[in-house]
Amino acid sequence: MMSVGETGGMEETLTIIKPDAVRAGNTGRIIAHLEDARFEIQAMRRMHLSRAQAEAFYAVHRERPFYADLVAFMTSGPVVAIALARENAVAHLRDVMGATDSTQAAEGTIRNLYGTNIQNNAIHGSDSPENAAIERAFFFAACDLVGR
Ligand code: ATP
Ligand code: MG
Repeated sequence: MMSVGETGGMEETLTIIKPDAVRAGNTGRIIAHLEDARFEIQAMRRMHLSRAQAEAFYAVHRERPFYADLVAFMTSGPVVAIALARENAVAHLRDVMGATDSTQAAEGTIRNLYGTNIQNNAIHGSDSPENAAIERAFFFAACDLVGR
């Protein structure tokens, strides 16, 4: 029996290439990095988040001191949201991304390669299968989520 968020051994997650990385022209390199890490791209969408959308997406952080800056950053330019699948996708994406603070991210991770600091860290990744399902539904309808 498959559990929510899984498709036949595969697990699903969501990434966002953040405005700093899009602005720097690193969209293609980050997508290549994810494909090299054997993530399947199920759906992809480039958009400029509104303030209300960014506030809703990061609502879990609304009491944190960095929330206003985070919303301003996430609305500072276009992002690319990507629905991804592979085995153990949530944990594997977090590994490939590296630590939240780009200056502490392990060598060769996406945040090490393309991030700048703790806020401008190039990429978002869902932190659990449950949040992955919520975040994927934020950006994509079921009819967008194509397999191979
Ligand atoms: P994300 O959710 O974007 O994948 P994360 O799970 O590694 O990142 P969170 O703690 O969920 O980190 O924080 C969400 C985002 O808020 C971070 O990616 C970063 O852009 C920003 N952020 C987190 N902590 C700080 C901080 N102390 N100062 C400034 N910005 C921060
Ligand atoms: Mg997070």
